[in-house]
Amino acid sequence: MTSQERGSVRGLLLAKGDEDNNIVWHEGHVDRSRREALLDQKGVVIWFTGLSGSGKSTIAFTVEHALAARSRLAYVLDGDNIRHGLNADLGFTAGDREENIRRIGEVARLFADAGFITLSSFVSPYKADRDNIRALLGSGDFLEVFVNTPLELCEQRDPKGLYKKARAGQIPNFTGVSDRYEAPVDPELEIHTADCTVAQAAQQVLDLLASRGKIW
Ligand code: ADP
Repeated sequence: MTSQERGSVRGLLLAKGDEDNNIVWHEGHVDRSRREALLDQKGVVIWFTGLSGSGKSTIAFTVEHALAARSRLAYVLDGDNIRHGLNADLGFTAGDREENIRRIGEVARLFADAGFITLSSFVSPYKADRDNIRALLGSGDFLEVFVNTPLELCEQRDPKGLYKKARAGQIPNFTGVSDRYEAPVDPELEIHTADCTVAQAAQQVLDLLASRGKIW
């Protein structure tokens, strides 16, 4: 279609819209607040951090489920859907770990801009990497949730058998065993899963979302 033809189609649409449906041609774009109004929620990133087996994914998926039950749209970003796809080219060297988290932060930023309640579940052991994402997103969009579970309990749970392998020396640089975990200094929420049920943990996250005006 030539630009002239496009112009005349536009002219037809304008004329027809004006006459029949009150549809008017608008050159602007749909902005974030319009998307949020459509979804009846605010976009945000809940950034779960904690040791492997601390409960990040279990809580994130429980929150997603609870939100879906209230007709609210959430999406869980976790190791499986990121490491197997977008970040399939990355390993576990220091540089690759940093790049892994950086890319996740960028994806989370887009999701928040789309208006989604984005639940990101990664060990993300280094404070500097998390702080970079906080700076990228801005404080209002980045809510850090420290899933604080003692190492001994994580190791006892060992839902994927990773601690056993790490202790046997089969996984190098495993957080909590042979690599450090830097706990958040001032997270928006700290959940002690040793002292609460999964449902209670999820409720704390829902309360946080409500208190920050992301859901109502
Ligand atoms: P992570 O995503 O942090 O690696 P997972 O969610 O995969 O951890 O595993 C946490 C394990 O701990 C699951 O088997 C879960 O059922 C169990 N668990 C027990 N109590 C809790 C709790 N209060 N909150 C979250 N998980 C819990």
